[in-house]
Amino acid sequence: MKSEIIVIGDELLIGQVLDTNSKWMATELNKQGWEVTRITTISDNAEDITEAISSAFLRVDVVLMTGGLGPTSDDVTKPVLCRYFGGKMIFDNSVYEQNLRYFSARGLQMNESTRRQAEVPDVCTVIPNPVGTAPIMWFEQGTKVLVAMPGVPNEMRVAMQGEVLQRLRTHYGDHDAILHRTLMVFRNTESGLSERLTTFEAELPSFIKLAYLPIPGVVRLRLTARGNDEALLSKNLDEMVEKLRNILDDDIFCEEDTTLGGALGKILLEKGLSVATAESCTGGNIAHEITLISGSSAYFNGSVVAYSNDVKQRVLGVSEEMLAQNGAVSQPVVEAMATGVMRLANTTCAIATSGIAGPNGGTPDKPVGTVWMAVCCGDKVVSECGHFVGTRAFIIERATQRAIMMLVDLLLRCDC
Ligand code: ATP
Ligand code: MG
Repeated sequence: MKSEIIVIGDELLIGQVLDTNSKWMATELNKQGWEVTRITTISDNAEDITEAISSAFLRVDVVLMTGGLGPTSDDVTKPVLCRYFGGKMIFDNSVYEQNLRYFSARGLQMNESTRRQAEVPDVCTVIPNPVGTAPIMWFEQGTKVLVAMPGVPNEMRVAMQGEVLQRLRTHYGDHDAILHRTLMVFRNTESGLSERLTTFEAELPSFIKLAYLPIPGVVRLRLTARGNDEALLSKNLDEMVEKLRNILDDDIFCEEDTTLGGALGKILLEKGLSVATAESCTGGNIAHEITLISGSSAYFNGSVVAYSNDVKQRVLGVSEEMLAQNGAVSQPVVEAMATGVMRLANTTCAIATSGIAGPNGGTPDKPVGTVWMAVCCGDKVVSECGHFVGTRAFIIERATQRAIMMLVDLLLRCDC
């Protein structure tokens, strides 16, 4: 089944708020076998909303919408929907009573504009909102369905996971399943990979599609299968994954759609290893990436954000002479930081960085973007100098990604 998402909000269009709703909704809809064929972002404007619904309904039967349901004057979605579906606004007592309970549970008084949250079009089915006051509205027109949900991400999620997805399943019955498999590949460029996979792609059955999702140094390969026999799809996908394993071999470092921190965590867990980080220019960002993964305490011991030379010396044991001779942004120092933190945190592996994230602080021989990175596992130490170009945040992010991948690479090459 095909569906479209419309997200409404001026704040999304001026770049003040990032639209995370559609990403989350598309992921959930996909899991349920709903194909999302278009995501549209529009302003809180009656004409734009009407036009977006009309054109979406020309293409698909199901439209999911978020935003603009609030009681303030900038939220216009509700009256627009009422007009579009040819209804009139009525006062819904059950919504009002639920909102009264919501307010009194929080010790709040209801004012006139929040009282008006209980006004709903008489042509929709109201779905209660258990975590907010804007009611969720389900409209039908012939074979078409439109669901309007609040813009507040948590309210939308609770509504979707609660009644909305369930109602869509009941309303449209069984339909095609969509299954995905993701393989994370390194040591290849996107174009190099696509050349290696030319024959594989040509032989793919028509119901399986291959997508390349690159981030620097890594390509996520996603296989997507659509069809009505889920078990058969799963078997076909397994066969395609096996084919990819034969072609790409050790270049596949993870068979799950996760972050680089997640992939590193899986390898550390499998090998029974542990890691610590010593971070100068990345300021703890590598530790952050690692600890974003639930359960990372099983393999992550800690981190030293060694920004000053003093901390590099006193905490990590980097010698004063080494720092004076080579400077902090150098191969010997970053390697000493890695081995130092490995000793200090009592781990089997470590990652260290020392660089110039800019925009100030660059010199002719060490310009902004120069980052030394070292990883170690037992007595094996590998280091590399990166030359990243971009903003401070970009350089920190790239150094973080590259340093994590250096450890992944080392762990998959050596038998530690
Ligand atoms: P409520 O009545 O509960 O406020 P609402 O539908 O009026 O619901 P909005 O006023 O449009 O919601 O938005 C509420 C909050 O949710 C705002 O902070 C807004 O920036 C945020 N928000 C809206 N749409 C999105 C989106 N697509 N992704 C992420 N955040 C969003
Ligand atoms: Mg809004």
